[in-house]
Amino acid sequence: MVGKVVMIGAGPGPADLLTVRAVEKLRAAEVVLHDDLVTAEVLALCAPSAQIVNVGKRCGKRGAAQERINALMIHFARKGLAVARLKSGDPAVFGRLGEELQALREAEILFEIVPGITAVAAAAAAAEMTLTDRRIASALVALTAHNAGDQPKPRAIPEFDRTTFAIYMPGPDYSRTARALMEQGIDSATPCALVSNACRSNQQVRHLLLRDLGSAQGIVAPAVLIVGRVAKRLEVLSGARDPYRLNESGPRVQIPTDVASA
Ligand code: SAH
Repeated sequence: MVGKVVMIGAGPGPADLLTVRAVEKLRAAEVVLHDDLVTAEVLALCAPSAQIVNVGKRCGKRGAAQERINALMIHFARKGLAVARLKSGDPAVFGRLGEELQALREAEILFEIVPGITAVAAAAAAAEMTLTDRRIASALVALTAHNAGDQPKPRAIPEFDRTTFAIYMPGPDYSRTARALMEQGIDSATPCALVSNACRSNQQVRHLLLRDLGSAQGIVAPAVLIVGRVAKRLEVLSGARDPYRLNESGPRVQIPTDVASA
């Protein structure tokens, strides 16, 4: 009998942001292969008898890591075990899901995918903001600052000022990321929200302009960068006619100095 592999999205960290289905599948798993970013509170839901293996990239040599993960999934499934492949966020977003599904298909192993809350959705909730807005943001583009070595730089799409860019893995060199985005034509005055540890107890949200991203200090990983007019701090501008306008000449509502400098 050959077991099945369930690809499970573990969400941004807190166990109560897992789906009910993810919890059920996790409890039923006999082997759990998880990434580095999966939190202890999520792993605590596994059955006490489950074999839990951290297959995160930081635990092995980079090049060999993916091959090893594929081999482990196939090995345990062929032993007839219920395998959970637990990935942070959603498995289909910057999670090498394509390579793993290809390996399972080639090995004729059955699989199932349980989606999870991806980092940018968690980050938007953490920053109390929207990612699309019919008035100002009609596109959402997910990018990464990290690519396979032989890939060209990610190319953005037109109509930048109506697009929200979600940049996964934006660090550690934030000046490089900011430069790459500006070189592709994104206005240096575009608002950004930089969200670390979204939805976790140590969550941090910073609002800044793209041109200031390089000088931001002490950004803790994991962090996701949201670039676009939706990232503008809105609370101080409530009451303004067009709170999202770029390149404004100055605030149109009176902002107390302690708020303006915060
Ligand atoms: N599959 C994952 C992404 C994996 S790539 C997803 O859908 O979210 C890893 C990157 O995700 C990190 O470098 C960071 O950019 C982002 N990330 C993951 N968890 C995060 C969190 N809780 N807060 C902010 N960013 C996070």
